[in-house]
Amino acid sequence: MQQKILLVYTGGTIGMVKDSATGALKAFDFDHLLVQIPQLKSVQAQIDTVSVPEPKDSADMNPSDWQFLGNLIYSKFMQYDGFVVLHGTDTMSYTASALSFMFSNLRKPIIFTGSQLPVGDIRTDALENVLTAIQIALLQENGVPSVSEVGVYFDSQLFRGNRSTKVSSDRFKAFMSPNFPALVTSGVSLKINEPMLLKPNLNRVTKFSEALNDKVLLVKIHPGITTKMFEQLCASVDFEVLIMETYGSGTIFNANWLALLLKELQKKGKNIINCSQCVSGVVKQGIYQGSEQLKSLGIISAKDMTTEAAITKAMYLLGQNKQRNDFKIEFEANLRGEMH
Ligand code: ASP
Repeated sequence: MQQKILLVYTGGTIGMVKDSATGALKAFDFDHLLVQIPQLKSVQAQIDTVSVPEPKDSADMNPSDWQFLGNLIYSKFMQYDGFVVLHGTDTMSYTASALSFMFSNLRKPIIFTGSQLPVGDIRTDALENVLTAIQIALLQENGVPSVSEVGVYFDSQLFRGNRSTKVSSDRFKAFMSPNFPALVTSGVSLKINEPMLLKPNLNRVTKFSEALNDKVLLVKIHPGITTKMFEQLCASVDFEVLIMETYGSGTIFNANWLALLLKELQKKGKNIINCSQCVSGVVKQGIYQGSEQLKSLGIISAKDMTTEAAITKAMYLLGQNKQRNDFKIEFEANLRGEMH
């Protein structure tokens, strides 16, 4: 039987055209995109296409867009062998991370891709990205998908979505997966990194939960941040989870006021997460004096997660009504291959 792939268009540079008046890139309609990729007709599979009602620059995407996209895929889940999502690069890692948590025991590939240059540009990277993302979604062994996870395919590499991060706005190699190897590498042939792939339970169905709670506040720690700034920010924002982007291995300045403020927040029932601003490496609370205080306060460690994964995992767990202890236990556990 012929395999079936659903190609979902959400927006991004890949399908944009120049506004003749301003010269700025804006989202165009999906038909334009398909005309530019005639090779799709030669793929040995049925490729159906669907566009979200209002394709956008991914900078305009919010958790409600992730819910819409997740529901769209889940409503067609049984009809297709795999899904390829065309998405803007700016927040692609956030959307891919969010979907990786919203789908559990995922048994089919959901591959995100996009491009740095619009599909109509003569030097575009869109063709290789889209066509290979489809080939990866079609990979099967004995009728079972080889990749059954949410991935980001870009410039010859498939990364686990919740391990990926955008690192360049002008190189074709726009994404990295600093703490986890590529799942598939594309050259003349596709090389699958089989031992690294997630293995779903084939006796259980895939589940989808759209519940997300976006009351998550991210604060990047920097030299010069003051008590006042921190206090005022925490007092004025309605949040349930505070993610502090700390230095190196999870270090932060050693200040009494910070310990007092964090204790106060904990008393109010807030969850506080320590996530490093380094792209690679692991949060190890307690190896320096500056992180010892965080450890003794019971601050939650994001370990080697990307900030994108930490934010979306926090939204997902809050959405599942996980409070205090349960939140900490589940956040520090490996749910979808997002941490070691
Ligand atoms: N601003 C665009 C977006 O994220 C960039 C891109 O697609 O590459 O939608």
